[in-house]
Amino acid sequence: MSRYQPPKMSRSRTNYFKHKRRRRHVVIVLCSIAIIAVAVAGTRSLLRSFPSNEKTLSAPSSSVVNKKVATPQKATTIDKSSWQLRLVNNTHPLPENFTVQTSIVAGHRFDSRAAPFLQKLISDCNAQGHHLLICSAYRSISYQTSLFKTEIQKAEQNGASDAVQTAATVVAKPGTSEHNLGLAVDFGSTGNQLCDESFGNTPEGQWLMQNAYKYGFILRYPKGKEDITKIIYEPWHYRYIGTAAAKEMQGKNICLEEYVGQA
Ligand SMILES: [Zn+2]
Repeated sequence: MSRYQPPKMSRSRTNYFKHKRRRRHVVIVLCSIAIIAVAVAGTRSLLRSFPSNEKTLSAPSSSVVNKKVATPQKATTIDKSSWQLRLVNNTHPLPENFTVQTSIVAGHRFDSRAAPFLQKLISDCNAQGHHLLICSAYRSISYQTSLFKTEIQKAEQNGASDAVQTAATVVAKPGTSEHNLGLAVDFGSTGNQLCDESFGNTPEGQWLMQNAYKYGFILRYPKGKEDITKIIYEPWHYRYIGTAAAKEMQGKNICLEEYVGQA
């Protein structure tokens, strides 16, 4: 049996196949180069479309700063006809039938809406080693009336020519005291409950002058404003007006009459 012998190719046919193989290699190499080039270019453009970490951190920060500046400006718009800015004095008396809902703070009645601020002020002050207390807070108009009548009787007994006027120098006429509003408080300390100028020199009096505004309270009858308030300097008498207004008034050194445009 003779074995199968493949037919021998001619020399020209062998060259043809060699040439074809070489051409295929060249095509494969060229295609590979093209694919790699496209891949590199694509990666570069992708990287360009995402900012680096530094850019991501720095770019939004400027817009955040702008927002932070803009927000408080809107928040400082204060409605000057709001309940906490109600002006009560000799020329702006409360109506006889005025009532207010009160809560008890340190044994005294105070407007329920402002009571938490008063409570916090006293707690924070005393937590710093002071001995702040309340001498007087809300007084109803009927109670003020009885106080006033008692003073008139005293004046009459003392032979005053104008008993009502004399009484008014000691006790505010009913409805004209901020204590009738429920937003005024007379402070004292365990060592000073005199309700006179000396309280301003106590550690508690000093603390109030520096910190009360943070809780929405102002020294209502400051030194140098007597011509406007018509009340002597009273370092013990504070009035709640809200934190935003208190901060603004403290910064501008103006009294409530000036702030609400009734000076
Ligand atoms: Zn007072």
